[in-house]
Amino acid sequence: MLQLFMPLNFMGMVYREIKQGLTDIERMMEVLEKNPEVADKPGAKELKVSGGAIRFDHVGFAYDPERVILKDVSFDVPAGKMVAIVGPSGAGKSTVARLLLRFYDVTGGKITIDGQNIRDVSQHSLRSAIGVVPQDTVLFNDTIFYNIKYGRADATDAEVYAAAKLAQIDDFVRALPDGYNTMVGERGLKLSGGEKQRVAIARTILKAPPILLLDEATSALDSHTEREIQDALDRVSKDRTTVVIAHRLSTIIHADSILVLEAGRVAEQGTHGELIAKNGLYASLWARQRQAEKAREELAHALEEA
Ligand code: ATP
Repeated sequence: MLQLFMPLNFMGMVYREIKQGLTDIERMMEVLEKNPEVADKPGAKELKVSGGAIRFDHVGFAYDPERVILKDVSFDVPAGKMVAIVGPSGAGKSTVARLLLRFYDVTGGKITIDGQNIRDVSQHSLRSAIGVVPQDTVLFNDTIFYNIKYGRADATDAEVYAAAKLAQIDDFVRALPDGYNTMVGERGLKLSGGEKQRVAIARTILKAPPILLLDEATSALDSHTEREIQDALDRVSKDRTTVVIAHRLSTIIHADSILVLEAGRVAEQGTHGELIAKNGLYASLWARQRQAEKAREELAHALEEA
């Protein structure tokens, strides 16, 4: 994602995406400047992805040596499977995502993709293999068509429409007076968070990366939009190695495995059913979230009746 030699408009998008999604670029740039080791090794090889199996092997990490953030974190995302990362705020979920993209180097252990240490491969090849669907996509000031096609410059028109269909945005776009030629972005039509996310999903479908990193939106979407986005994400993640940074547990019930982080450590790991049966941290997060959802529904109900 972060290639300093990319065209300016790309940098602009990356800037905004990262700023609003995975991290704060200003702080990241600061760290990169201070951290010259986040650079390609001389003669770094290209990452060769077969299935896209990810392994965090006893990973430790600190942004600042005084304060350790991740401690001895180990987990596997087998090729083609989905692992969701959950945990209280500040547990280190987004940090795991940033390390996978190698915005920072681990301070202990290693991260491998199909057996290759991500420190040993070129950053370009690493980031080309990972499609990121950020929480909040900021679109180019251009047409919807352009914004989707950006996923793969050589895609045909038919492929762009097919990606939009899979991402559940095609009907919406076709109903606009200018259809795919509608200008969007800051100076064009303002799309809702859910619509923007579907454009980002369509872009990722076109890019067809072997690995997907989904940074789930924190904000509650209405249940219809949430279902549509969920369907789109289910399609794009099918048979792809997927890591989901999840804020709402309801969306990751079907993940192959759920990793529960607590204060930078793996507290629990298992399927939804296994973790509920365990009655530990996940079960209490789940119960708390259900309560909050119920309270929200009741409030909405009361407001409707008032
Ligand atoms: P949330 O659910 O609130 O998004 P999270 O689990 O994703 O939280 P992280 O963003 O990974 O948590 O942050 C883990 C810890 O690292 C937090 O205590 C945070 O303050 C700290 N942290 C995050 N980014 C930086 C940074 N750039 N420099 C220093 N500390 C940071």
